[in-house]
Amino acid sequence: MKNQFILIGILSSLFLFSCSTYQPYGEPTALALYDVQDGDLISQNQEVSEADLILHQELWDVAMLAIPADYQHFIVGFRIESDGPDQILASVEPDGEELLDLSSWTLAVDLMDAVDRTGALKTEELTTTLIHEFAHILSLNSNQIIAVNWNEVDFQEDEEDDRYWTSEGIAQEDSYLNLFYQRFWTDELLEAVWNIEDADDDEEYTKLWNDLSIATYTDFITDYAMTNPEEDFAESFAYYVMNPIPEPTGTLSIEKVLFFDSFPEIQSIRTELREMLDFNSEES
Ligand SMILES: [Zn+2]
Repeated sequence: MKNQFILIGILSSLFLFSCSTYQPYGEPTALALYDVQDGDLISQNQEVSEADLILHQELWDVAMLAIPADYQHFIVGFRIESDGPDQILASVEPDGEELLDLSSWTLAVDLMDAVDRTGALKTEELTTTLIHEFAHILSLNSNQIIAVNWNEVDFQEDEEDDRYWTSEGIAQEDSYLNLFYQRFWTDELLEAVWNIEDADDDEEYTKLWNDLSIATYTDFITDYAMTNPEEDFAESFAYYVMNPIPEPTGTLSIEKVLFFDSFPEIQSIRTELREMLDFNSEES
């Protein structure tokens, strides 16, 4: 399997709901930066107004409802930014020069997507996206992935080693993402989505995504999940948290959702998140 690097591409032109572990759309404008210490925001900007501080704190408080207590220590930075409306609502990125410290992450939220012009939170989109972002922390943290700087690795393909490779490193054998990949993805599917990234022009690119979407309609819980295994994992996890547990039907998208229910510790995470987010819990 080849190194996958960053595959996100320019999907937002095709899919309205998007997020990523990186920023593929050019630099967003940073509005405020905070360090996180013991769960509290420490402003790194002198010029943020009192009203903005209150709004940012409100966004942070909502974000922490979507991150289970045992995982909050992974978040060491909080950035408010915007790349304009309707692009990336939120993202997470690892710390460090080469983005390789997988024990420390910054969460970024796009102000224009997260609140309306009155400053009211767009709660539903925000919550869904933040749970999706948490799924990246769950699956890409230092306990799950062995960080690798691919630029410095003289990569030799090892036929025996079929662990999934993320942009951040190698998914450990028993990591959630590797298990998810081994069960639901094939190298052929991964190559198919890579090839779409190499499309000659926008028209071809859109057609190839549409063709794949039609061919795999019930395999993915959203179109965005087709992007790569990381996004498939995150979208399926967000569905698992936000909806009643589905009945097994053999449909692949549902099997992906039920994958999470096979881990008692992830069942507990779901219960904790649903309680924090005050979802109606009609089933355990
Ligand atoms: Zn994502």
